Amino acid sequence: MAASISDTLLAWYDTHARDLPWRARPGAPPTDPYRVWLSEVMLQQTTVAAVKPYFQAFTERWPTVRDLAAAPEEDVMAAWAGLGYYSRARNLVKASRAVAAMGGFPSSETELRDLPGLGAYTAAAVAAIAFGKRAVVVDANVERVVSRLFAIEEPLPSSRKIIRERTDEITPENRAGDFAQAMMDLGATICTSRDPKCLLCPLSASCEGRKNGDPARYPVKAPKKAKPVRKGQAYWITREDHVWLVRRVGTGMLGGMRALPDDGWSAKGDGHKNAPTAGPWRDLGLVRHTFTHFALELAVCETQATSDPLDEGEWWPLDRLDEAGLPTLFAKAARLALA
Ligand code: SF4
Repeated sequence: MAASISDTLLAWYDTHARDLPWRARPGAPPTDPYRVWLSEVMLQQTTVAAVKPYFQAFTERWPTVRDLAAAPEEDVMAAWAGLGYYSRARNLVKASRAVAAMGGFPSSETELRDLPGLGAYTAAAVAAIAFGKRAVVVDANVERVVSRLFAIEEPLPSSRKIIRERTDEITPENRAGDFAQAMMDLGATICTSRDPKCLLCPLSASCEGRKNGDPARYPVKAPKKAKPVRKGQAYWITREDHVWLVRRVGTGMLGGMRALPDDGWSAKGDGHKNAPTAGPWRDLGLVRHTFTHFALELAVCETQATSDPLDEGEWWPLDRLDEAGLPTLFAKAARLALA
């Protein structure tokens, strides 16, 4: 059964593969590991449509891993602005420098895993897709397809071990990279979260979830805990067509990014509400933003300054604000202030 699943899926992939800028066509020699790695890092928690323009901008500006390794970190962070999960960008810089120092990407999954920010998934994906190594690649699409194919009743996240074992069983010795991409494409286009199109699916004859009559209920999920809501303030301080921006502390949330000054809110607690300069302050409204582990309600307050605020920062021209590389949360706050 395992061989028939991989053969059937690869035959489907040969004619239905999505055309993506970071991909080789089915059966063609693998693409540059830099492009595979960069795309896989960008695609974590982010849609293909959102990634495409960033991938194009990055590869035009930094065509090789050496170019990226030589880039100042703040330029990479600014170019990443809007993609979210900013620790990925910091690790991207660190990993590119490690790879450049090694003279190129290692090809084994174990060595790839040693690079900063390369977790089990990314290391397996790069080994399989860029180097043709047999590796078991499990992303959210693969998790969904495999849970349905084998009608796995154990809920996520504890089912991850079983899903991995089942994926291992059906991963072929050859064309493991194409197989991984075929599973991703099947999950993205046919075996979609809410509406699996079983009539179009090449694997329908082997699919236990379809036979059970309700494939969309897989993967079974443990009930979700509500995210805590944190409250904070951000400060819009202007002077003569400029706004005061700060650089966030390197290792904290959104670390290294330019931002509006705020009151120190974090995943663990609310902000202290102490403004960085004397007012008078005017409330502009609330911005809501959801992070992985919490939701944030950020009150935006405005004042006009006559001197520099206490924090270190810079006066940034309002008509060039889109070049500041503000992360999404602060870009939303800026839009509210300018509305
Ligand atoms: S038959 Fe349906 S549920 Fe099963 S893998 Fe295909 S699309 Fe998904």
